[in-house]
Amino acid sequence: MRRRTPRGPALHVRFYEKPDCGLCAEAYRALTRVRMEMPLDKGARVLVRLDRFALQPDVAPGPAEEEQLELFAVSENGAAAPDAPELAPLAEVPAPPLHRVRRLSYSALSLFERCSYRYFAERVVGLRPADAAGTVPGQSGLAPTEIGDAVHALLERVDLRAPTVPENLAELVRARYPAVTEEELERIRAFVASYCESELAASIAALEGATAELPFAFEHDGVLLHGRIDVLHRDGPRALVLDYKTNSLAEGTPEEIVEHDYRLQRLVYALACFRAGAEEVEVVYHFLERPDAVVTGTYRVEDVPVLEAELSDAIARIQANDFRPMPDEFVCRDCPALDLVCAGPKLLG
Ligand code: SF4
Repeated sequence: MRRRTPRGPALHVRFYEKPDCGLCAEAYRALTRVRMEMPLDKGARVLVRLDRFALQPDVAPGPAEEEQLELFAVSENGAAAPDAPELAPLAEVPAPPLHRVRRLSYSALSLFERCSYRYFAERVVGLRPADAAGTVPGQSGLAPTEIGDAVHALLERVDLRAPTVPENLAELVRARYPAVTEEELERIRAFVASYCESELAASIAALEGATAELPFAFEHDGVLLHGRIDVLHRDGPRALVLDYKTNSLAEGTPEEIVEHDYRLQRLVYALACFRAGAEEVEVVYHFLERPDAVVTGTYRVEDVPVLEAELSDAIARIQANDFRPMPDEFVCRDCPALDLVCAGPKLLG
């Protein structure tokens, strides 16, 4: 502030902090005639010059002005964008390690056959099928895979010689899947009844020594193939394998579904029996949506080289990590990759 006083020349004052004396209070009141210079730089300070009685003199630029950042200065290359500094090259991203399979269940093979990318999502990455929370109390509703599992668990308990629907079916299912709904219980009951009341069940009942839930394992191309057979019957060199399916028959005819989704699984069953000494293997699929939806295929020991070559090819594709989306309305429905890392049926256009 420059101020005329009775005792001397004009007084110049710089405020760097809030004034707290009478003189400075007067300076505040004179702010209607203030001129401010505000360098906008780091450590900026406000310089205030005040004069209540005289015109404001020109103020020579101080050193702070020279240091001010030139916000609107024209760069050396005119209006063009300033040259970007050259960055160090990015380090090369290492290739992810290959998924090397050593054990394969028949259900994993079946999944690979239905959609190899879903196999990758579930069996390599570890994603769980969507909505699979039927074992969680307080949840409501089962995933299709859980309904299938509940049906298999019930059929495992059924007496093959005299098949009937368990009276305590609801209690058994709820013990395994507390989230099951009444509607799902009825579906599960219908699946079990479909087998128990079928002609196929009557034929199996007549077979001496038919056994449920038989585990198997054998090695092929350095991979251990393992699983359980729903029902196995051996009669000398002949073997019969029965597998229950809870697929919706809206997916296609039973024959089409087997050819499309269970071809590999079927040959694994056959090879397991051949490795156990069978010379002829009949593999029967029962689609429980209908008591008569049965698909049968028979292999002879001469077929083994062809079956093994097909299995080798599938294992080689898994070892080569050949995982591709194979969109299908039914397979995609409960896929954990859907809309997360895969567009599913939208890939079909
Ligand atoms: S969404 Fe469909 S196509 Fe994609 S991974 Fe899942 S099953 Fe395969």
